[in-house]
Amino acid sequence: MRTSTVFKLDLKKIDGEGDFPCPKCGVTISPDDVSEETYRILEVKSRGERLERLVILCNKCGSIIHLVGFELLDEYEEFSADL
Ligand SMILES: [Zn+2]
Repeated sequence: MRTSTVFKLDLKKIDGEGDFPCPKCGVTISPDDVSEETYRILEVKSRGERLERLVILCNKCGSIIHLVGFELLDEYEEFSADL
């Protein structure tokens, strides 16, 4: 029987430009990778136009990863635009 492990990952605690390792198998998951080779998006939750949560599935180990912390990214983008 194969069970999925569920992880919660806070983007605020991730360094870099959006890439992060899978908490279980360590494969690099990149938001720019749209090939669905390493991961698949299961669910997108948003409030208005604001992304709140992304649920992805690691294709390598089958882990389900909940991504949170998009609020900060939004703020950062707004801040950058003011410069
Ligand atoms: Zn994995």
